[in-house]
Amino acid sequence: MKIAVVGTGYVGLVAGACFAESGNDVVCVDKDDAKVRMLRRGKMPIYEPGLEEIVRRNRAEGRLTFTTNLPKAVRDSLVVFIAVGTPQGEDGSADLRHVLSVGGEIAKAMNGYKIIVDKSTVPVGTSEKVREIIRRTTTHPFSVVSNPEFLKQGAAIDDFMKPDRVVIGAEDARAQEIMLELYSPFTRTGAPIMVMDCASAELSKYAANAMLASRISFMNEVANVCELVGADVDQVRRAIGSDRRIGTAFLFPGVGYGGSCFPKDVQAMIRFASDRDYAFRILEAVEKVNELQKTRLFSKIKKHFGTVKGKTVAVWGLSFKPKTDDMREAPSIPLIEALLNAGATVQAHDPEAMKVARGHFGSKIAYSANNYDALKGADCLAIVTEWNEFRRPDFDRMRKLMRSPVIFDGRNLFTPDQMKQSGFTYYSIGRN
Ligand code: NAD
Repeated sequence: MKIAVVGTGYVGLVAGACFAESGNDVVCVDKDDAKVRMLRRGKMPIYEPGLEEIVRRNRAEGRLTFTTNLPKAVRDSLVVFIAVGTPQGEDGSADLRHVLSVGGEIAKAMNGYKIIVDKSTVPVGTSEKVREIIRRTTTHPFSVVSNPEFLKQGAAIDDFMKPDRVVIGAEDARAQEIMLELYSPFTRTGAPIMVMDCASAELSKYAANAMLASRISFMNEVANVCELVGADVDQVRRAIGSDRRIGTAFLFPGVGYGGSCFPKDVQAMIRFASDRDYAFRILEAVEKVNELQKTRLFSKIKKHFGTVKGKTVAVWGLSFKPKTDDMREAPSIPLIEALLNAGATVQAHDPEAMKVARGHFGSKIAYSANNYDALKGADCLAIVTEWNEFRRPDFDRMRKLMRSPVIFDGRNLFTPDQMKQSGFTYYSIGRN
């Protein structure tokens, strides 16, 4: 099948590469000329495990190309995916500028029947807006489909290739049939393809992210109560997770959720509910709890030292989660800003996000080549992202490098007993 994917970010590039991997002819379009040139040289603009290899293989086979020429890509394709960003607008709602402008460009370029598939996360009614733009511009036949994406950064290829489910909002039989065919290679293991109306498909994506964000904020509050009453959140988590109605996933407390999706999608859902005079009270609380949770590690550091002025703080982990270089809304940002504002010096390390961090903090912090270097002369260590390589460090080496052996673990990577034996003063989340 001939496919165009507009937007080569985390979603578009992964989707394009995976559709090519299953034998389709895919052209990925981006307006960012530098990104397209980079991809044509075989360089990845983002870090995502396994992506580079799939892109390389499919480029070599001639099934995957990159261009800035959207009209040509549309003319050459039957299915056109829109996978551009839908950032948070000033009032919290999803900013649909990119989606709608791409919809207009697609409409102008049409030369026959096309299926325009919205893969970006968009509020209910957006597929109707795209439909309207196209209807106004062209007399060619077309279908508009909503196909929200559920992949996780850091495991995006696997999630795309072996999805839990594929959601397709399609209201005509022709588009449904083609979408089912396109996705059939990814659902052979039995994952359901759920065909529904566009409004339900659009809402499903927000409901999924809002539910996941709610679990995180809920567990963060449970952890905060654990600290007050002398309970251990790890034990509580195990106890409740074994209830099949609850399940074990997504029950880990920490320093708050970040990333390009949960914060903006929670905001957008609150907003489009309130546009219809509905106050989504749970989500308002989820968001508030998350903002407070992002300040807790700093509060613990401040409480321990009295003042952090003049202290050197090592920070392990800058990306919003492991296995990505993405720092959008990362909890590391407010923590580091609070430390700098309070007069501390920060020495940070992240396995993949150092380049992105330089763009963010410039020369305000020191960038360490590895996690041990970050500890040299440090008064304490703050762990913000649970990268695997941080889980089994050499504690003796760490203690020798640090000025004082104090760890603030925002991800509960170690156990309090282990830390006591290793000679550290240890603070974590929800455990005494
Ligand atoms: P991104 O910011 O990484 O990438 C968006 C890309 O679109 C950029 O390369 C940008 O240059 C390009 N673009 C913008 N306007 C364009 C235009 N007019 N023509 C051509 N290209 C254009 O975004 P992302 O993280 O891939 O997210 C895309 C959408 O998918 C969002 O709606 C997001 O909410 C949703 N989503 C993201 C994830 C995730 O994990 N990142 C997961 C599921 C869904």
